[in-house]
Amino acid sequence: MSKTIAVIPGDGIGPEIMKATLRVLDALDCGLSYEFVDAGMVALEKHGDLLPKDTLDAIARHTIALKGPLTTPIGGGFTSINVTLRRHFDLYANVRPAISFPGTKARFENIDIITVRENTEGAYLSEGQTLSEDGEVATSMVRNTRKGSTRIVKYAFEMARQKGRKKITAVHKANIMKTSSGLFLNVAREVAKEYPDIEFNEMIVDNTCMQLVMKPEQFDVIVTTNLFGDILSDLCAGLVGGLGLAPGDNIGAGAAIFEAVHGSAPDIAGKGIANPCALLLAAADMLDHLGMADKGNKVRAAIRDTLTNDRDAVTPDLGGKGNTDSFGDAIVKRVKAA
Ligand code: NAD
Repeated sequence: MSKTIAVIPGDGIGPEIMKATLRVLDALDCGLSYEFVDAGMVALEKHGDLLPKDTLDAIARHTIALKGPLTTPIGGGFTSINVTLRRHFDLYANVRPAISFPGTKARFENIDIITVRENTEGAYLSEGQTLSEDGEVATSMVRNTRKGSTRIVKYAFEMARQKGRKKITAVHKANIMKTSSGLFLNVAREVAKEYPDIEFNEMIVDNTCMQLVMKPEQFDVIVTTNLFGDILSDLCAGLVGGLGLAPGDNIGAGAAIFEAVHGSAPDIAGKGIANPCALLLAAADMLDHLGMADKGNKVRAAIRDTLTNDRDAVTPDLGGKGNTDSFGDAIVKRVKAA
């Protein structure tokens, strides 16, 4: 296939891990070309805007973006660029795979859980937040809609089918949040009936936290509302050893943005030791999304093999003696040989 994607190298370690990631994509010969655009501090310095219109236009034009981490300046009334992107493109599904890799300091092995988090409603509303004048009473609001719940649950089932997943767990708190979480749960039950080929169960969020820590192997795909998804996806990342290998996919009807979950790591930027794997795994998810799952799997297998058999090439955060270049070289060599 031939396809152009928007590439946002980003801030801090972003350009370093993006370079390694694009080398692997090029080695896979997947027919992708790149339009490089700016966002974050680098865009503010060059164009006076954290998220220039040219960048938004490029994402809209190509519908797919691979994005490095961005630094949002603290103070000065800046809105998070990631939140702005999510709102602008209505990226309603945040998909966070948590996969065990060898040679990491994880508490569990053989974990392969995907959390599908609703990303536009739930408890993340700017409206309805009040604080009484005396500062004694604070309120906030939760709003779920049938439309929002339906599209996220359907997305989870369709994704499960496409990836050959067997089971979906809908996570809720409908016993207490009877209206908002109740609506989500009812929709999940209804949608599940349309997918008899996929096992469906439901679980209350507090029990889910305990079950994830005690018996994570029972989970395959989790679908849930915004706040629970935020918490559970980080819990799952913790089960597999943290954010060094955590990709995040942001999917909307008209655009999809793939990124690493970690930030711009200013403490190691420019040192050449950043681990490129989270962004690489996001690129692998992008290949799945573009109908090239065979190539996505090659990337995952190459990372797995490097972590098992080429420890000297691995970056220090994963216990190796290597750097971004040596880690990238080892993965390029393996995808070429596959
Ligand atoms: P961070 O994820 O950047 O760093 C936390 C720690 O993890 C640091 O010690 C860092 O060196 C290490 N680390 C992160 N990624 C690594 C990698 N690939 N390889 C090796 N080590 C890695 O989190 P932070 O320090 O809280 O945030 C720094 C900046 O990143 C902030 O400006 C924040 O707003 C931004 N941020 C952006 C995103 C995004 O764009 N998606 C996400 C989170 C944070």
